[in-house]
Amino acid sequence: MPGGFLSKIGRVGLSKSSIWGMHGGMGTHAKTTTEPYIPVLSFSEGIGEKFLESIGIGGADEGAFSHDVLQSRVELFRLYDNNPEGIQPVLRRAHAILMLVRFLDRASMDQVREAYRIVHAEPFLPKSMLILREPGETEFKISCAYCGQKLWVRDHDAGKRGNCPQCRKTFFLPTQKSYLASYLMLTESVPVYEAVMGEASCRKAMDSLLGRILDHEQALKSNTTRVTIPPENGV
Ligand SMILES: [Zn+2]
Repeated sequence: MPGGFLSKIGRVGLSKSSIWGMHGGMGTHAKTTTEPYIPVLSFSEGIGEKFLESIGIGGADEGAFSHDVLQSRVELFRLYDNNPEGIQPVLRRAHAILMLVRFLDRASMDQVREAYRIVHAEPFLPKSMLILREPGETEFKISCAYCGQKLWVRDHDAGKRGNCPQCRKTFFLPTQKSYLASYLMLTESVPVYEAVMGEASCRKAMDSLLGRILDHEQALKSNTTRVTIPPENGV
């Protein structure tokens, strides 16, 4: 994607190439003149606000988040009552994406999946899923795959067989992370984190995403070398 196009529509006036150039200095950290832009997509009422508060952006839909030498601009988008198609222009100027999920029942997951389909179409954009919980929560909500009944699953029951009280069907109980990953068919390039609202785990998830923006830059900047072929076994 041409950098010129990105810089034209960039809300903070930056192109991807200006971000990549930022850490070009060897040894010293180049002064950051631009900030990566990270849209945070929320799929449940209230969690986006709590997440922003947890990372130090209180009472606003947008603000700065600092990680090591890198400061980023974070902006909240509420996708639970908006058409996900609207995020397409936002993705084009983003440097990474964080998707915030709370409940994994069918209605919630269909919204997440619809938005993820759009996010997934940007293959080079670092993206993470974050499952947010209230402090002390030890169970999570899914829907029965057979009848759609909303069900609470306790964390410590993962891996056991459970019955749906509604349709009586039996199935293996997943962990929350594995359920989300398999529902969306996530690959390893899209990590799923768990965090507790108001706790340091929220900052950690952001740190990790920012670290991936830097890794991504480095990978794009580094020289191309040829794949090495190991000697075949038994020859
Ligand atoms: Zn059922």
